[in-house]
Amino acid sequence: MIEQLEELKTRALEELARIQDLDRLEEWRITYLGKRSELNQILRGIGTLAPADRRTVGQIANDVKSVLEGESAARRAQLEQIAREAEIARERVDVTLPPRPIARGQCHPLSLITEEIVAAFRALGYDVVEGPEVEWDKYNFEMLNIPAEHPARDVWDTFYVKTTDGIPQGQVVLRTHTSPMQIRVMQARRPPIRVIVPGRAYRYEATDATHESEFYQIEGLAVDEHITMADLKGTLTAFAHAVFGPERRTRFRVDFFPFVEPGAEMAIDCHACRGSGCRICKNTGWIEIMGAGMVHPKVLEGVGYDPAKYTGFAFGMGPERVAMLKYGIDDIRLFKTNDLRFLQQFR
Ligand SMILES: [Zn+2]
Repeated sequence: MIEQLEELKTRALEELARIQDLDRLEEWRITYLGKRSELNQILRGIGTLAPADRRTVGQIANDVKSVLEGESAARRAQLEQIAREAEIARERVDVTLPPRPIARGQCHPLSLITEEIVAAFRALGYDVVEGPEVEWDKYNFEMLNIPAEHPARDVWDTFYVKTTDGIPQGQVVLRTHTSPMQIRVMQARRPPIRVIVPGRAYRYEATDATHESEFYQIEGLAVDEHITMADLKGTLTAFAHAVFGPERRTRFRVDFFPFVEPGAEMAIDCHACRGSGCRICKNTGWIEIMGAGMVHPKVLEGVGYDPAKYTGFAFGMGPERVAMLKYGIDDIRLFKTNDLRFLQQFR
């Protein structure tokens, strides 16, 4: 029986040494240390031995049992450690892997051109101001010399805003141009005034390749003593040189806007064909850039300025149009379709 125990111990330890995973270890435990194990049967049979042998065999059997228990516990600890390390290795983050590229954003072409235009006027000493897009009729029309029933209102198809709290309907509009800021600025400041007003405006128009119901406008205003048409021409020519190149020539022709007198339309010679005629300039050699003019005396009087003392000029342009001309874009709707193939050309 002692030999049987020794043989059992040797066999069990050999098998134990070959075990590589915890499932096999559990099977081994059931085989050698479980209730129905050989060892357990020997232990239970001890009582049938002669009293002289009981003690010796019992001691050896218990020694074998404790050796097997100790060794298997050690093996279990070893295997658990290996399993943990394998799991850590599986989950390890390789910090040396190159990162996935992060898509880099960029300014929208309208932001770029607006910044460029604004910078050209800042260099001439203009402040940038912004105003509300939901505007009083009196600022959008009345105080700009466009009273109700004035035929010029037909030029601006207006979105009216439904009012509450006792404000009569028809008094609040989505501004149709950034010109109302002329009035707000003149009311808030005293001359000399030099401001540039970038912002959004709205007109109830069908959308096509050159019209959008929501668009941007950049308004400018200069008011001081002794300002003349020559200042207007010099200022806007400096702008044209800054944005379209120093060799540009400018042309001013008479135009009508109710809030200026005289009014002018400014054009530059075509930067694409240098005046010989092409698709961009519709074969005229000239490109209309903006409307401008000397501030109407009625507008000055309306804000409490003495038109005998103060004069000024105002202008307004569409940055969409400027960008389309500068970059050769043929459809205004491209600015809003969020097509990356279009937008990524303006890095
Ligand atoms: Zn041309």
